[in-house]
Amino acid sequence: MTSEVLIIGGGVIGLSIARELHKLGAKRITIVEKGVCGEESSWAAAGMLGPQAEADSGGSFFDMTLASRDLYPDFAAELEAETGIDVGLDRSGTFYFAFSDEDVRALRERYEWQKKAGFPVELLTADEARRAEPFASPSVREALFFRGDWQVDNRKLLAALRKYAEINGIQIIKNTTVERLIVEGNQVVGVEVANGEIRGEQTVLATGAWTSLIKVGVADMPFKVEPVRGQIIAFHTAKQFFKHVVYTRRGYIVPRSDGRLLVGSTTEFVGFEKTTTAAAADLLREIAGEIAPSIGALSISDNWSGLRPFAADGLPVLGSIAGIEGLTIATAHYRNGILLAPLTARIVADRLIGGGDHPAFTAFGPDRFRFAVGSMS
Ligand SMILES: Cc1cc2nc3c(=O)[nH]c(=O)nc-3n(C[C@H](O)[C@H](O)[C@H](O)COP(=O)(O)OP(=O)(O)OC[C@H]3O[C@@H](n4cnc5c(N)ncnc54)[C@H](O)[C@@H]3O)c2cc1C
Repeated sequence: MTSEVLIIGGGVIGLSIARELHKLGAKRITIVEKGVCGEESSWAAAGMLGPQAEADSGGSFFDMTLASRDLYPDFAAELEAETGIDVGLDRSGTFYFAFSDEDVRALRERYEWQKKAGFPVELLTADEARRAEPFASPSVREALFFRGDWQVDNRKLLAALRKYAEINGIQIIKNTTVERLIVEGNQVVGVEVANGEIRGEQTVLATGAWTSLIKVGVADMPFKVEPVRGQIIAFHTAKQFFKHVVYTRRGYIVPRSDGRLLVGSTTEFVGFEKTTTAAAADLLREIAGEIAPSIGALSISDNWSGLRPFAADGLPVLGSIAGIEGLTIATAHYRNGILLAPLTARIVADRLIGGGDHPAFTAFGPDRFRFAVGSMS
């Protein structure tokens, strides 16, 4: 039977799109996943929802991250009502610490532009920061506090999205790698897998770091997605050292309510290599030790890595390719796929159900790479 919508890739993006489509009334939704849903980048992430803490400037990408963050309270509450799974949305807020002259300069710049633009951000002295986080290093010079930057437990989020699919008849075909899109005329009509074809009226590519491995058929993709490895280490402590996410210019810590404390992350262009390295563990321990010397001295309880999907300009790739019908791309969310999942799901589902195009499809469309500087004579 032909699916109404065929979603390739069951990470946070594919699963969220499937849920949103189902809520809008789509009946035959199928996810094709090369392994098991939710075990790649989306599983490896730290779950920070930090548009403000990460932004050097405003613009359409910043706007999109804010809009998606603002969807999170409802997204989390609805998922809990639908599945019984609390996804651990923690709205305590996020700190940004400065240690050196250069850090203070960068922190002040971030503070100034966001304050001027009217976003909620507080500039704190070292004493104020340490009152809020008593285990913070005595070397903290200044801090910013972003009240509206949160975190979610991404693994619980994936569990909730998988459960939503399971209880609502969304078909998941796992352990099945899509090799090629089937294009008839200018219309994508399905996908080729090792043992045959799977047909769909609409196809969505939500294949993260692996997107460029899929052959399109008649045309080349106008963009390339590369894997960027990120490693994380975790400590497990009986007592919770920190209450908030803390960023620095070199990395971050994310305290979870179950006593885990995540420290991230590396940015490595090493292809599809997911092994973890001792060098990265040392670097991450140093980052933790800078934020709080008492944490840097603990023993590591766990470590892992994931492959972030990265397009050449570091921005998402959303929408369709000129001249190809029946195909929607939703990939290259790079460092922000957990944050951007609710908005991506909403705008992709709206588009597929005929609700029209969100401006993000223009700003982040795949065809922006066709005419990139340097490709024209
Ligand atoms: C260390 C680290 C920390 C991060 N921290 C954060 C954070 O704090 N906040 C945040 O917002 N983001 C964070 N991210 C980024 C975030 O994890 C990604 O942007 C997001 O997970 C991308 O989601 P996705 O569904 O596109 O990709 P994935 O989760 O990788 O899912 C893609 C899926 O497609 C499947 N697939 C691929 N090719 C095929 C094929 N040919 N056939 C069938 N299936 C296929 C894969 O198996 C996979 O399951 C982090 C990432 C890493 C690695």
